[in-house]
Amino acid sequence: MKKIDTIVIGAGPVGLFAVHQLGIKGLKSVVIDNLDKVGGQCIELYPDKPIYDIPAVPECTGEELTKRLFDQIKPFKTEFFLNERVDEVTQDKNNWIIKTNKNNQFIAPNIIIAGGVGSFEPRKLSIEDAEKFEDKFIFYAVKNKEKFKNKNISIFGGGDSALDWALELSKFSNINLIHRRNEFRGTPHTLNEIKKLEKEGKISIKTPCQLNSIEGEKDIKSISIKFDDGKIEKIKTDFVLSFFGLVMKLGPIAEWGLNMSKKTITVNSENFETNKKGIFAVGDICNYPGKLKLILSGFHEVALASVECFKRARPNEKYRFEFTTSSKTIQERLGKK
Ligand SMILES: Cc1cc2nc3c(=O)[nH]c(=O)nc-3n(C[C@H](O)[C@H](O)[C@H](O)COP(=O)(O)OP(=O)(O)OC[C@H]3O[C@@H](n4cnc5c(N)ncnc54)[C@H](O)[C@@H]3O)c2cc1C
Repeated sequence: MKKIDTIVIGAGPVGLFAVHQLGIKGLKSVVIDNLDKVGGQCIELYPDKPIYDIPAVPECTGEELTKRLFDQIKPFKTEFFLNERVDEVTQDKNNWIIKTNKNNQFIAPNIIIAGGVGSFEPRKLSIEDAEKFEDKFIFYAVKNKEKFKNKNISIFGGGDSALDWALELSKFSNINLIHRRNEFRGTPHTLNEIKKLEKEGKISIKTPCQLNSIEGEKDIKSISIKFDDGKIEKIKTDFVLSFFGLVMKLGPIAEWGLNMSKKTITVNSENFETNKKGIFAVGDICNYPGKLKLILSGFHEVALASVECFKRARPNEKYRFEFTTSSKTIQERLGKK
C-alpha cells in the first residue's frame, strides 16, 4: 500500500491544478483516473474547441489547456494511475484508504475528489456473454496492438476510434468493420483510406447491422451479426473490439457516505471539505451556494482545499501563506533555483 499526502481522484483540469497547489505547499500526491489520458472533459469532449475564459489565456483549445496544466505540474514528478477507477474508500483513524478496480491501494490523510461528472466509461456491448469474454477476447480500448497481430478482428462502431483502429490493425490482421448505420463519422481522409482498403480486400465493411450472438466456450470462435433486413451472417472472429463511445457514471462515488445533492457532493465553501474530515470535493462534482461549473471556479477551490490538506498532512508545521514570486521554497519546489 502506497502512503502519500493526498490522493487526487480525477485528472481533469481541476485535478491537474490540484497537484500544482499541493505541490507548491510541499505535498506529494498521486492522481487516479479512469480514462487512458489526462484532461477530463477538455480532452474527451472538446479537445479542438476554443475556451475563452481562462484568466490570462485569451483563447486555447481543450487539448492546449490540458497540455499547459500538465507542463505546469511536471516539476512535482507526480505518479498517475490511468485506466483505473477508484472503487472503495475506507477510513483508518486519521487516514483514508482507497482501492482501485485494479486492486491498487493508497493511504493518505487527504482525498481530493475532482471527479467531474463521474468516471468516463466505455459504453459496453449489451449482449449475453459479452462480460464473460471482456478483457480476454472483447476489448473497449487497445492498450497493446501486438496482441491483435495476425488475427481475425471484428471492430464495432462508426466513429473515429473504430475507423482509426480498423486502419491501424489492417496492416497485419483481417478486419471486419461493423456499424449499425450505413454512414460512418470520420475525417474524409480516414474514410477514403478505409474505402481503399476495402477494395483491396483488407477490410470488410458490414452495415447496417448489429451484434447478434457470440459463439465459443473458453474463447471466441465466431460472432453472428444481424442486418436490418433480418439476414444473419456468421463471421470467424478471434477478437472483438467495440467503440460505442463513453458514458459518464457517477459510479462508486455515490457509495462513499458523502452528503450529496443532485449527483454532486455537498461541500463548505471555506475549504471545500465534505461531511467527512479529510475528503474534499472540487470542480464540477461539488456543490455549494453559488457554485459555477467553470474551470476557473475549480482552480480557486483547489487553492483553498490544498491549505486544509497541508494542515492535515503536516499537523506539526504551521501553514505560511506565500507568493510564488517571492518564495524561495516554492521556487525550489518548482525547480527554478
Ligand atoms: C463542450 C463543453 C465546453 C465547455 N467549455 C467550457 C469553457 O469554455 N469554460 C469553462 O470554464 N468550462 C467549460 N466547460 C466545462 C468544463 O470542461 C468543466 O467545468 C471542467 O472540465 C470540470 O473539470 P473537473 O476536473 O472538475 O472534471 P472533469 O473534466 O469532468 O474530469 C473528471 C475526471 O475524473 C475522472 N473520474 C471520475 N470518477 C472517477 C473515479 N471513481 N475513479 C477514477 N477517475 C474518476 C473522470 O474519468 C474524468 O477524467 C465545457 C464543458 C463542455 C462539455
